[in-house]
Amino acid sequence: MTYCYNCGHITPGEPAFCNHCGRSYDVKLCPRLHPNPRSAEVCSKCGSRELSTPQPKVPAMWKLLAILIRLGLGLLLLYLSLGFLIALLKTTEFQRAFVCIGLALFGLWLIWSKLPDWLQDMIRSAARRRGRNDDN
Ligand SMILES: [Zn+2]
Ligand SMILES: [Zn+2]
Repeated sequence: MTYCYNCGHITPGEPAFCNHCGRSYDVKLCPRLHPNPRSAEVCSKCGSRELSTPQPKVPAMWKLLAILIRLGLGLLLLYLSLGFLIALLKTTEFQRAFVCIGLALFGLWLIWSKLPDWLQDMIRSAARRRGRNDDN
């Protein structure tokens, strides 16, 4: 993916020319696609004078700025994520929620352990009812 500083169009892949305005990126290319420096008037390999027009020079500051912004955003995101995680672990709400979840799980375990008793009771009462029906 290459950004064209002439028209602002992004061309996917590793293009030699901009998809939009047809300029080459940081080199002058002859019809046989030999790369030549910006200062070249004639292709150094085949002598062609039909060199492509390169995009305007990208100021080094811009490239540096782009790298710095990317790095800065990455660090900021990492810092925010870590800070959020630490804050979350420190907050009483989280601890309360943790305790609540723990209690809920404890309750569920209790219910689960009592489940067979309930089933036994149900079966017993059902048997009792059936017995009564038999008596009648
Ligand atoms: Zn372009
Ligand atoms: Zn050439």
